[in-house]
Amino acid sequence: MRDGRCFEGGILKVDNFINHQMDPILMKSMAVEFVRRFASAQVDKVVTIEASGIAPAILVGYLLEIPVVFAKKKVPSTMENMLATKVYSFTKNREYDVCVSRDFLCEGDRVLFIDDFLANGNAAKGIMDLVNQAGAQLVGMGFLIEKSFQKGGDMLRAQGIHVESLAIIDSLDDCRITLRN
Ligand code: 5GP
Repeated sequence: MRDGRCFEGGILKVDNFINHQMDPILMKSMAVEFVRRFASAQVDKVVTIEASGIAPAILVGYLLEIPVVFAKKKVPSTMENMLATKVYSFTKNREYDVCVSRDFLCEGDRVLFIDDFLANGNAAKGIMDLVNQAGAQLVGMGFLIEKSFQKGGDMLRAQGIHVESLAIIDSLDDCRITLRN
């Protein structure tokens, strides 16, 4: 509430503790909470998308002592066994390719997806596609901030996915942040 800033079009800027400067103590607390909420999920790999998901994802992986894989937004010429999908970016208003190597997202992996924001769920859909292509299993999705006035959360929960969001924002109307209690 103190540090978030609203922008036109339902965008929240949290650049002083998540998206630019990062608060590692808060990040660790958030990772501890994800570990608690997904305790029964038997996760064996954390997956995120570069760049802002990496910090919370790596802390979750550190606590669980399991590998963390980030899907890449630029296709490297050197990537082997590539799986790819397209994701529409809400904040950048364009589509981009997201890829991951089959060497690191493997058949049978029990995947927990971690990201900074859940808005319309396009990044989440892209990860579901990659997980399916790999023959892995998605066991949950954790977000630092969910904007409930966009449709991603409903869409994912309607599919039976275990979604956990640490802060839920019900409205950014009139550039005022309304947090769910
Ligand atoms: P979605 O794919 O769910 O539509 O949007 C989620 C992605 O878009 C996140 O990975 C995040 O990078 C970005 N995003 C969506 N909404 C916001 C927002 O309000 N603020 C910031 N900083 N990023 C957002």
